[in-house]
Formats: sequence, C-alpha cells, structure tokens
Amino acid sequence: KAKEAGGGVYATYDPAMHDALVQRLELADDLRRALDRDEFVLHYQPTVDLATGEIIGFEALVRWQHPTRGMVPPLDFIPIAESTGLIVPIGRWVMAEACRQAVAWGRPLKMAVNVSVRQFEAGDLAATVASVLAETGMPADQLCLEMTESVLLTDTDENLARIVSLKALGVMLAMDDFGTGYSSLAYLRRFPMDVLKIDRSFIDRLDHEGDPLVDTIIRLGHRFGMTTVAEGIENEAQLAALRMMGCDFAQGYLLSRPLPSAAAGELLKTGLAVGASLTPLFPYAL
Ligand code: C2E
Ligand code: MG
Ligand code: MG
Ligand code: MG
Repeated sequence: KAKEAGGGVYATYDPAMHDALVQRLELADDLRRALDRDEFVLHYQPTVDLATGEIIGFEALVRWQHPTRGMVPPLDFIPIAESTGLIVPIGRWVMAEACRQAVAWGRPLKMAVNVSVRQFEAGDLAATVASVLAETGMPADQLCLEMTESVLLTDTDENLARIVSLKALGVMLAMDDFGTGYSSLAYLRRFPMDVLKIDRSFIDRLDHEGDPLVDTIIRLGHRFGMTTVAEGIENEAQLAALRMMGCDFAQGYLLSRPLPSAAAGELLKTGLAVGASLTPLFPYAL
C-alpha cells in the first residue's frame, strides 16, 4: 500500500505506533510465561456494609509482578490477556487463588472475582467454577462472579443458558460497572443477577445531598431483589449520601484501597476502625 502511494516503503510508518505494537507483543509474550512463573498476585478490597460498617467480604483484583516492569495494573494487561485467550487460564488461577484465600481466612465472607466476556463465552465457565469450588472447599454461595454489561450485550439464549447454569451452582452473580455500558433495562428482567454494582462515575458526582439518578438506580436494584453496591467511594459526603439513599454495601479508597492478602487479613481482624474517619459514622459497630 505504501509503495502504491508513491511515497516509498515507509510512507505510512509511524514510530510511535510501532513502539506501542512492539510493547504489546513483548507483553503478550511475557504474559504467556507469567502463570508458570507465578508472577500474578491478588489484592483484596473490602466490601463494607453501609448500615453497620462491617466488612462483609472482598473483591479480588489481579496484579502482575513483571520481572523488569514492576507491578503492572490489570487495565494494562487484561485486554492483552483477552485478545490472546490467556484470560481463560489466568482467570481460572484468579478464581482458585481468591477462593483459597477466602477459605484460609476461616470465616464466612463474600469473595468477588471479575470475569471477562471472553471467559464467559469460552468453553464451560460453569464447569470451571464447579471444579474450583470442589478443589478449594469454597462454599458456592460465598463466591460472587462480577461481569460487566458487555457480557450481557449479546442477549442470546446461549448466554442466558450460561447464566442459568452458573446460578444453578449456587454462586452469586454481580453486574459490575452498572450504568456505563449500553444498559438495557430489559436485561434486569431477563438475567437473574444478585448484585448491582453502581459504577464509580456516578459516585464521583455525589455530594451529601444525594442524587436522583443514584437514588433511582438503588431503588431499581432493590425492586429486582438485588443487593446494591457502590464502588469508588472517596469521601465522607459520598458515604453519607449513599447511606441516606439506602445503598447496601460500598467499596472505595475512603474505606480501604485494595490490599495484599496479609494486610487484608489484618483488616479483617481489626475492622475498619483502623480507617479512623469512619468512627463517628458507625457508632453502633464500635
Ligand atoms: P472493577 O472490577 O470495576 O474494579 C474496581 C477498580 O476500581 C479497581 O481497579 C480498584 O482498585 C479501583 N478502585 C476501587 N476503589 C476506588 C476509589 O475509591 N477510587 C478510584 N479512583 N478507584 C478505585 P484495578 O484493580 O486497577 O482494576 C481495574 C479493572 O480491571 C477492574 O475494574 C476489572 O474490570 C479489571 N480486573 C481486575 N482484576 C481482574 C481479574 O482478575 N480478571 C478480570 N477479568 N478483570 C480484572
Ligand atoms: Mg469488579
Ligand atoms: Mg466495578
Ligand atoms: Mg468500575
């Protein structure tokens, strides 16, 4: 094509694009070996009951300890894992590790794990989940699979059957980042999800007065029998507003950042009083 344009072979050569492509290929190559080399690690962000201040569970968030690049965040490698199909074995590892950790903490806790579309559509996710539950001894009802709306975007009978077979195992299903995708309210009726996670972009704009849109999402979730979780709480005003509007659970840097397993285990023992700022808001829990 470049030759036809008459500008020489490199007429459309863009060094920046080339570098980005080489980076991606290198990362993809490293990613292939990362599982064998045990380079993934999970951090755990607590989910807090807004009525009591209690930690009811955690969300497992994967990180990649790259030998030369340091800690790589999920948004930098999950897309590559998805396009190469590596997300399937990586996703299985994440699920098993999160369940092992939950069982090791030795008390009833919800453990949420993110599942991408590719995992959902490749092979038999329900069989994978069943084998992870069996090998770790994790009670099914303590595992929650978080999926974004994109999973449900292709509203096919096949996807509905997948959801139904996951539900049949007794695990919980959460709709992650609710409100960001091409949400169709019809999905709420068609797909039996247990948890609705309100995307951080809605929480960002919240102040102490609350917000009619967030209030409506919470009511909508409750009307469909779902538990509502607000993600990305960063200040006290947002926390107060969400409590006022009757949101069930919350996550966010105000409560705790995602933590390495040892620190998360400590937090579980001490409770969130460690976060000092919560003390006046949860007098009954303390
Ligand atoms: P997500 O599932 O919506 O997870 C929430 C993200 O928001 C996490 O980023 C978390 O660290 C961040 N976060 C939590 N509280 C706050 C807050 O108060 N303020 C701000 N600004 N951010 C907050 P993280 O860990 O970088 O993960 C990003 C995304 O990567 C996740 O979004 C999820 O979609 C994906 N991801 C993470 N782990 C996995 C995994 O094991 N498998 C798959 N398929 N995707 C994963
Ligand atoms: Mg999530
Ligand atoms: Mg989310
Ligand atoms: Mg989000």
